[in-house]
Amino acid sequence: MKSQQIRQQFLDFFASKKHQIVPSSPIVLKNDPTLMFTNAGMVPFKEYFLGQKTAAEKRVADTQKCLRVSGKHNDLEEVGKDTYHHTMFEMLGNWSFGDYFKKEAISWAWELLTEVYKIDKDCLYVTVFEGAEEDGLGYDQEAYDYWKQFIDEERIINGNKKDNFWEMGAQGPCGPCSEIHVDIRSAEEKAKISGKSLVNNDHPQVVEIWNLVFMEFNRKADGSLEKLPAQHVDTGMGFERLCMVLQNKQSNYDTDVFTPLIREVEAITSSDYGKNEETDIAIRVIADHVRAVAFAIADGQLPSNTGAGYVIRRILRRAIRYGFTFLNTKEPFIYKLVNTLSKQMGEYFPELKAQKQLITNVIKEEENSFLRTLDQGLLLLDGIIKNTNGTEVSGKKAFELFDTYGFPIDLTALILSEKGMTLNEVDFNTELEKQKNRSRAASVVETDDWVVLYEDDDEEEFIGYDTLKAKVKITRYRKVSSKKEGDFYQLVFNMTPFYPEGGGQVGDKGYIEVPNGNVIYIVNTKKENNLIIHYAENLPKDPTQTFNVSVDEKQRFRTACNHSATHLLHQALREVLGTHVEQKGSAVHSKNLRFDFSHFAKLTVDELREVEDFVNARIDSKIPLKEFRNIPMQTALDKGAMALFGEKYGDTVRAIQFGQSVELCGGTHIQNTGDIWHFKITSENAIASGIRRIEAITGDATKDFYFENNRAFFEIKDILKNPVNPLKSILDLQEENTTLKKQIETLLKDKAKNLKGDLINEVEKINGINFLAKKLDLDQNSIKDLAFEIGNQVENLFLLAGAEADGKAFLTCYISKNLVTEKGLNAGQVVRELGKLIQGGGGGQPFFATAGGKNPAGIEDALQKGKEYIL
Ligand code: ATP
Ligand code: MG
Repeated sequence: MKSQQIRQQFLDFFASKKHQIVPSSPIVLKNDPTLMFTNAGMVPFKEYFLGQKTAAEKRVADTQKCLRVSGKHNDLEEVGKDTYHHTMFEMLGNWSFGDYFKKEAISWAWELLTEVYKIDKDCLYVTVFEGAEEDGLGYDQEAYDYWKQFIDEERIINGNKKDNFWEMGAQGPCGPCSEIHVDIRSAEEKAKISGKSLVNNDHPQVVEIWNLVFMEFNRKADGSLEKLPAQHVDTGMGFERLCMVLQNKQSNYDTDVFTPLIREVEAITSSDYGKNEETDIAIRVIADHVRAVAFAIADGQLPSNTGAGYVIRRILRRAIRYGFTFLNTKEPFIYKLVNTLSKQMGEYFPELKAQKQLITNVIKEEENSFLRTLDQGLLLLDGIIKNTNGTEVSGKKAFELFDTYGFPIDLTALILSEKGMTLNEVDFNTELEKQKNRSRAASVVETDDWVVLYEDDDEEEFIGYDTLKAKVKITRYRKVSSKKEGDFYQLVFNMTPFYPEGGGQVGDKGYIEVPNGNVIYIVNTKKENNLIIHYAENLPKDPTQTFNVSVDEKQRFRTACNHSATHLLHQALREVLGTHVEQKGSAVHSKNLRFDFSHFAKLTVDELREVEDFVNARIDSKIPLKEFRNIPMQTALDKGAMALFGEKYGDTVRAIQFGQSVELCGGTHIQNTGDIWHFKITSENAIASGIRRIEAITGDATKDFYFENNRAFFEIKDILKNPVNPLKSILDLQEENTTLKKQIETLLKDKAKNLKGDLINEVEKINGINFLAKKLDLDQNSIKDLAFEIGNQVENLFLLAGAEADGKAFLTCYISKNLVTEKGLNAGQVVRELGKLIQGGGGGQPFFATAGGKNPAGIEDALQKGKEYIL
């Protein structure tokens, strides 16, 4: 059976059990500070389990895109090495939100596996939670009793907290679980060792395929458990593992989920899968990682240097590195797999098809830049190896290569071992640990548990589209202690006019009025799951009272102007550049706006002008806002809104219309485009291959912009003595500057030539070595040229030169090559040692090296001491 059918049968089965089938939620999470990526099927439904939101449907089934590469669930290092863990995988799940519980979950799972998929029940084992004293939990007898109706009691295994108590993270919903394991070994193997002893023992052919979680608790910050308001079922079955079982394969990578990708890698890299373990691992890593990266990009997460973007970059780099090292790929090639992937999975996940071009471009660009890094790193590593005495390379040096240049440490180790050298791993790990501690210390955040004041009013209402002031109750609060930001309080109100950061728009600021005419400032507002959280500088003395709260009007108005202008800009870009322009990111602040979009060339000055004119024309036409709240997605699309991926099932949408511009948007806007007053682009540049960024300002900010530019222009004219054509004056100056530089260079060279003759005359012969040590009034490049020229004329030369410039000291040492080999002299060592006298350091090669330091007074000393090397 093909994988597509396997997925469909799962969904059909649960549809027949009255489940609503919903599409996968995005793999990239937007409003969740505790998680970067969806790491299990339950993540999109977290609010339902915690009782923060009521599910519209009590039974749901889906396949969810998951990524396990960071935090509590991180399989990254295993991926490729084993045959059944992936970074990105699909988790098939059926859900009961306060509806059915253990009985149905167990009997339906059994029915699906043994009657629909017809898995031989003699291959199956199930596990039951044995209890955990520290949590006050006993044996899950109930689950055991249901299971024994279907399966031999011999095949029911007790499991501990590690395997049979599922937790999303350090905090959050959790509960005991029952796993289903399958033994796909041959009859012969089974006769030798019983499958039972291999369950949960990392055997590649005795693997867990399905986990049925019975959600009953919430793990609190202090580690204790509290009962959830209702009992839920959360199940997760690994789709790729299921395919392995049903397609009679021994590895997930041998199923039709992966074989097209693997065939493609083989073809591109002229390698063979299944011949050699190292090659196989590399191929698996690449086939796996391209999926993770492609899905993340499709859901809006581009590779970058921080946060989730960095995780994606690292996954891709891991794939590039495996290719580079084991498949000998020195050119970008992973991007070529996107086409195959999109053919393979684009049907069920249309975002892959729709964004194929972008994904391809981004991956290719990343590959190019990382391959450059690898090239550069190899050169640097070569240098390090040359300067290493003995066979052990310093851990500090290797760490520098890793930390500053992004050169992978395992590659360093591999290259060294090929040269018969080793790496001082202890030192490397010490450096790594030091750095980790530094960043850990900077980011420690302690969050207390919520103190709930008004349980019933917890479903908070956002009233900020209509008003900026309100009388509110604090329904819950908690204290947060952060090393970086100090202590603050997070407050949740029963309703709020404060807009929480989201959709690219910043969170509102404002204040709470407390008794005696004082105020407590709210410095930011964010959304976490379904709660709007106000970041307050303090907590009112008596938080149970009712308070007047106000949003900072000025900031809100300016932000709204920038947000509405962003929509007009989007429309303008599609009009001027074409409909291939798609929003790729946006940041709306009170000061300015930033808009990232797909487009393949730099905008010309004329295009920028056209875009500005388009927006300003719409501002001048004073178009009134039309707002549609809580409308179904389809209604919004019918109005002309663009469909965006990354919406979650069950969401109704809000549409914002200014004339022809219609967008799905939850942000705050002005009532009329006339309020924006004026729009001005301040910069345009590329942020990734095929993605451009425009920054712009509106309203009063544009006055300042024009004024400051004008002032700068007048000042420039003033300095140039008010020429008629200042641009020409600047170009003339530049030209003159170039000519002067060239002249100086020639003069210096002449000076050096004359000097050469004088210096050769000063050479002393000591112990058969021609020795010269002198302070010179030349720049470093000239000294280098001079040293080599003298070296060409004078044999057996030991030359040491000092120089002083800008209060710094420099030393240069040149030693004829035959002296290096015959007398064991080493210029690098000379400058390292003498460098101490000028309070600095340096290095280079045995025949030529330089040092720099901050103590010019030490130059004479150093020159004196130089003689000692040849005495
Ligand atoms: P394992 O012990 O094999 O790592 P798990 O206990 O981490 O599995 P769960 O968190 O219970 O797994 O996830 C539910 C199901 O998802 C598992 O039964 C398995 O089939 C599948 N699964 C889990 N992790 C992965 C992964 N990295 N790649 C592919 N499938 C996975
Ligand atoms: Mg796991």
